[in-house]
Amino acid sequence: MYLTRLIYVSTITQLCRPESLDEILIASRKHNEEDHITGILSFDEQYFLQCLEGSRSKVNEAYSRIHNDKRHTNVIILDYEEISSRVFGDWSMGYVPKSKLTALLNIQFSGSDSFTPYEMSGASAFQMLLELKKNLPSD
Ligand code: FAD
Repeated sequence: MYLTRLIYVSTITQLCRPESLDEILIASRKHNEEDHITGILSFDEQYFLQCLEGSRSKVNEAYSRIHNDKRHTNVIILDYEEISSRVFGDWSMGYVPKSKLTALLNIQFSGSDSFTPYEMSGASAFQMLLELKKNLPSD
């Protein structure tokens, strides 16, 4: 089955409580390990930016569950493409907290010094996630 990469952005809702992030990461890592999905999730207390990579069918299934999750809304796909190899293969879901989303990094990949992923192209979002990967501890 073809390897696929999907990148989307979304906005947190009131149903996402402070402890929800841990619950999301635990569920993500469990499902993703089973489904051989790898990726990265960044979050700045308002927006999520996530990359999922894996077989096309498993990525589509995961995205469908994620899209229906009421803990976030306005879920928009920035990029969806067939790929020849994974770049986040070490992470069932690497997590990037707000502290890593610096003004310098934001200005490098968007028109603003704050984290505005809805205004990023898929290519910029991917490049930003690649940059964030450099300081990510392995799962
Ligand atoms: P459960 O965790 O038991 O959830 C059952 C249903 O309840 C689901 O519809 C779920 O959306 C909903 N739900 C669960 N907890 C809450 C809550 N506290 N408030 C409101 N509704 C709730 N899943 C993955 O498998 N891989 C990922 O990479 C991934 N990334 C995610 C990224 C984000 C930003 C978010 C918000 C969710 C992500 N999820 C991911 C979780 C995904 O949306 C589903 O919740 C999860 O896959 C379903 O897990 P489950 O089958 O164990 O059901």
